Amino acid sequence: MSKTYTIRCKGVNERFNGTFIFNNSKFEAPGLLPGEKAKVSLLYGKDKGKAVVEEILEPSEHRVAPFCQAYALCGGCALQHTDYENSLKIKTQVVKDLIGGFVKVEDCVGAEKPLNYRNKINATLAKNKRGQVISGLYMESSHKVIRLNECAIENKNAAAVMGSIRQFMNDYHIEPFNEDKQTGILRHVLFRVAASGDTLVVLVSGNKIFPEKNKLAQAISEKHGFVKSVVLNYNLKKTSMILGDRDEILTGAGHVTDTMCGICFRISAHSFYQVNTPMAERLYTDAIKGAGLTKNDRILDAYCGIGTITSVAAKISGAKEVTGVELNASAVRDAKENAASAGLGNLRFVCSDAGDFLRKAADDGDHYSCVIMDPPRAGSSDKFLRALTKMAPEKVIYISCNPVALAHDLKILTRFGYRAVKATPYDMFPWTGNVETVVQLINQNANAKHHVEIGIDAEEYYKIKECVL
Ligand code: SAH
Repeated sequence: MSKTYTIRCKGVNERFNGTFIFNNSKFEAPGLLPGEKAKVSLLYGKDKGKAVVEEILEPSEHRVAPFCQAYALCGGCALQHTDYENSLKIKTQVVKDLIGGFVKVEDCVGAEKPLNYRNKINATLAKNKRGQVISGLYMESSHKVIRLNECAIENKNAAAVMGSIRQFMNDYHIEPFNEDKQTGILRHVLFRVAASGDTLVVLVSGNKIFPEKNKLAQAISEKHGFVKSVVLNYNLKKTSMILGDRDEILTGAGHVTDTMCGICFRISAHSFYQVNTPMAERLYTDAIKGAGLTKNDRILDAYCGIGTITSVAAKISGAKEVTGVELNASAVRDAKENAASAGLGNLRFVCSDAGDFLRKAADDGDHYSCVIMDPPRAGSSDKFLRALTKMAPEKVIYISCNPVALAHDLKILTRFGYRAVKATPYDMFPWTGNVETVVQLINQNANAKHHVEIGIDAEEYYKIKECVL
């Protein structure tokens, strides 16, 4: 056994690993809680700065036994070794450590229902040594399937249907798809569950021939009344992506309908949709109400996906027109259909890179009074931020799933005339190492000259950016 050292955990970093100082260097160790005294061994080489907990000598009063049997292997949850209240405190602290220098960070808003919240579930299939079909999740950083009949953060409908699918596969000798050998049939099963319980089941086949497809679709629909549609998706490529491009509807409409903030959204196999509907509803409502938007605002929802925030913003503000911009063409199609069937005439959707769109709008002298931005994990782009500072909308609502990228973008925005008024973390993904944060920003120059004068050119932007980062 390698040499161990006794340390005391000081805090938690953005990967939700415990941190400590040893020999004047900073280290991180997964599974360690603030205040705990532990024996650790240090890692070297490419893992320099990391440590492994060998023994906890003084456990935190908040330490609890993880409720999931696969906790150590799966990697999906990072905080099951502490009680829920403390997991919220840790999330608040992680966000504070990253953006507390720019803005007051409120306490993380907890979920009323921190279990069985996931409305999008992906199960993977394999065979055990005795030749029986098993289902579960991939082991962390690997493609080995961990058997898990029920995951505590997923909607329970998925586990019920998976039981029937495993049984059917064993009875009819349907082979799970084997990625290495590229043999077998069923690769994954994806579920989309509406708040009503209505469920879409997507069978993902690695083989273009699946003789029992209709029999299986019928069996699960008959046994589980909540299954409203079964879709067969063909994913014949050697890829780690779950879905392929081609769908065949086996039963029902090929989608389910969910209601968020009183607006209906169609969710199909490929749609992007927040995985925790009640928390998303709360976050969107707070974010839009918090900005005090009214019918006089001109609102842009950048990175709008299928237009959920766009629709909620239109509904709450009563604005004459709300524009959503999104790069993914199929999400834009979904957004348009959703708006049409919800009878929302004041929505406009544009398929474009958000930075290109904003740049052109700013160059044309077009002005939005509020820009809502909800970029992907990597954060926004320089193009977008530059265009934003050029247009200088009076209000910006920044919704972020990655506080590290948020910190980066806030450094820039607060240097370019914006004041971050308030940041609120939301526990959108309980027990996992993820946190969603809403930041309300206002343009301090809003009452000064028109936006074009306070806008800046590229050279100046990069000069200032270099100074602040
Ligand atoms: N606001 C939506 C979706 C947020 S996820 C919701 O809450 O449901 C981020 C979205 O940004 C994704 O839909 C992704 O397709 C989109 N996206 C990624 N890069 C983009 C870009 N450069 N321009 C516009 N949209 C982009």
